[in-house]
Amino acid sequence: MINYNATPRDWPEDFPHDNGMYMNGCTTCKETFIGYKRRVTCKVCGGQYEAARASEFKALQEKFLRVQDEYQRVHSEFTAARTARDAMCPHSEIKTDKQYYEGGYDYTNRTEHWEYCTTCKKTLKKWTEDHGSYS
Ligand SMILES: [Zn+2]
Ligand SMILES: [Zn+2]
Repeated sequence: MINYNATPRDWPEDFPHDNGMYMNGCTTCKETFIGYKRRVTCKVCGGQYEAARASEFKALQEKFLRVQDEYQRVHSEFTAARTARDAMCPHSEIKTDKQYYEGGYDYTNRTEHWEYCTTCKKTLKKWTEDHGSYS
């Protein structure tokens, strides 16, 4: 390795490596710099790019934490509001639903019916209709 005084645009950490003292042209500032053959920016421009990315990431992380706090706050408010409403629900909008179950050799075909409140989703009544036949 030749004795060379690196300029601020050079990448001295590349010098000991193969092709680490290549004379490159910076794609950003167009100045020449010494560094690894495949580098496209000098250390000044590269460093600015890295610093810009780091501060962009920091801003995104801060935003994420802010939104996460807000989300958790709204989520617990949502849960509390739903619990309070469900406790007072008059179950005025009722619907029924059913599901058919195929029988086996020792149990019969059956249909499960249930009645539920469309507001709070609570099941109010449940009954089984036994078709009395085996599959
Ligand atoms: Zn540059
Ligand atoms: Zn209800």
